[in-house]
Amino acid sequence: MADRKLPAPQANIETEAYWKAAGEGKLLVKHCTACGQAHHYPRALCPFCFSDKTEWKQCSGKGTLYSYSVMRRAPVPYAIAYVTLAEGPTMLTNMTDCDFDKLKIGQPVKVVFKPSEGGPPLPMFTSA
Ligand SMILES: [Zn+2]
Repeated sequence: MADRKLPAPQANIETEAYWKAAGEGKLLVKHCTACGQAHHYPRALCPFCFSDKTEWKQCSGKGTLYSYSVMRRAPVPYAIAYVTLAEGPTMLTNMTDCDFDKLKIGQPVKVVFKPSEGGPPLPMFTSA
């Protein structure tokens, strides 16, 4: 299978640490010390209680496939997916390096990092 060209993500002050960790092969989520909930995508304020007492935590990189959609008409077919991380948050991502015909909702998945063009690698998921 050909590799799809991936545009570099745009880092900002809220996501700088996230992308730096991605460059080291680590997946981070924000954890709120006020209400105890983890969230994704990273934000300065907790989306549940609006506290600014949030901290980064490294994820196990394990999760389950919540839903997915295979884009078969693209020049290089790809699969957009929602993955629920073992730590709780659900993230919008892509499935990669696996047979899209064999994907199943609820299956275990694990993170892999795919290079982007001129930016940090992007977290995607594959069958675990
Ligand atoms: Zn909170």
